[in-house]
Amino acid sequence: MDHGIIRQLVRSLRALPGVSQRQAEKIAFTLLQDTAARAALDELVATLSLTDPCPRCGWFTEKSASCPNCGREHSVICVVENFSDLLGIERTGQFTGSYHLLGGLIAPLEGILPEDLNAEPLKERVEAGGIAEVILALPATIEGEATIHYLHELLAPTRVTLTRIARGIPSGSKVEYLDRKTVGNAIAERVKVSSGLSE
Ligand SMILES: [Zn+2]
Repeated sequence: MDHGIIRQLVRSLRALPGVSQRQAEKIAFTLLQDTAARAALDELVATLSLTDPCPRCGWFTEKSASCPNCGREHSVICVVENFSDLLGIERTGQFTGSYHLLGGLIAPLEGILPEDLNAEPLKERVEAGGIAEVILALPATIEGEATIHYLHELLAPTRVTLTRIARGIPSGSKVEYLDRKTVGNAIAERVKVSSGLSE
């Protein structure tokens, strides 16, 4: 019996985040046998082909449609690492401004350098004017601190007020795992970013 097709399916599914070998095998068999599951997959692929990251803010938006995030009130911009952190802040209901998705944090050992981040477009957004404050909602990890330090230097010439959510975010944790109240407090009690790596 030729297992080539199944091996290929499993390999593709393993490329998805959080999918183990066993889960990939299970999903592969489901997709082969279940027409409803295949229809859902077709729909997923079709939707993905219609979306593009916004070149300004990194939010994903329908091709040729105007970006809903850039369309939000943007005198205050909240900088997050990724989409799940954005959802964590959105759930608090305490932030009504516009987001900026970096798409990662500086991690030289993993080969992620400042130029790999969606950071220059952030500077351009600030330089375009009308921005009162940029809030850095980044984790209190080595990578988070390195990224905060970099963004502080990058944005310094713009003289924009730069703050970070400091209190309530334990070291090593990520915004997305924290509960609504903790994140809400962290936003409310943000502090100004000073020069140097830490407060
Ligand atoms: Zn946008």
